[in-house]
Amino acid sequence: MLTPPFDARCQGAVLAAAVGDALGHPVEFASMADIRARFGPAGLTDYALFWTRDGERFAPYTDDTQMAEAVLVSLLASRAAGEDLDAAMQRIARAFVAWAQDPQGGHRAPGNACLAGCRALARGVPWAEAGGATAGGCGSVMRAYPFGLVFVDDLARAEAWAVAHSRLTHNDPIALAACAAMAVGTALCAQGAPLGDTLDAMIAAAQRHDPKVAQMMIRARQEAEGGVAADTVFDRLRAWAAHEAIAAAVFLLARHPDDLSAALLAGANTPGDSDSIATLAGALVGARVGVAGLPARWREGLERAAALDALARQIPNPPQAA
Ligand SMILES: [Mg+2]
Repeated sequence: MLTPPFDARCQGAVLAAAVGDALGHPVEFASMADIRARFGPAGLTDYALFWTRDGERFAPYTDDTQMAEAVLVSLLASRAAGEDLDAAMQRIARAFVAWAQDPQGGHRAPGNACLAGCRALARGVPWAEAGGATAGGCGSVMRAYPFGLVFVDDLARAEAWAVAHSRLTHNDPIALAACAAMAVGTALCAQGAPLGDTLDAMIAAAQRHDPKVAQMMIRARQEAEGGVAADTVFDRLRAWAAHEAIAAAVFLLARHPDDLSAALLAGANTPGDSDSIATLAGALVGARVGVAGLPARWREGLERAAALDALARQIPNPPQAA
């Protein structure tokens, strides 16, 4: 029996990814000097942005979670229908076009490459060609973790489908490599694999698509294991680009493998793409430690927490975890 159980790992990954997104949301475009001036020497320690809608007050997430939810909903339907890769990608393409035209709860600073890909898909460009050839932002890796949960027992498919899905919006090899690593890493975290094996497999997955991405991940892992200060690492890894984002995720997984709060806050307290870094860290560490590792106040304060929780519970248990 897997401990924590697979269901709790899926809830941990989905909810912590969204919590990280919401924690980082108010500081996505802020420098560390700005963050410390606003929140004190420890930086951000809790949600700092709330919206009220229909009488409910919540911490809003961003486009990262909107698109990841679209991927997860599509993958669950696709798996239930027994679809092949092409049908699944067409299903995700329809979900992305719908999101671009009418994002649930309003637009949240979506990336240009995501929007350009969606416009191409809406014009009828085939999914494998819709993403820009040099689109290498973090817009596809931030929504790649669901492949590792839905295909937790099939690493080859998790990787191949995550890579394919990047092509809808991001066709640069650095984005493909980052998606491969994120899907494989999430799957191994959700399997309860040892940390070292998980990091090895993430780096190997990136290597299959772009060796320079693997090199950046190796350096980030060494920095985490060698005690290099987070400020130093995140000053270099701003994570607007996919290779920096996955290297930042490796740093946080290696530094805080069993402390979800620490991983989330370290991801949010960064001068770069704070919401995306924290969402990647949340998915990986959340899949390792399960939902019990997520502070209740963050889970309860999150936008649409109940809906995301219910969605996570729909992910089918792999046979060996039952
Ligand atoms: Mg975002």
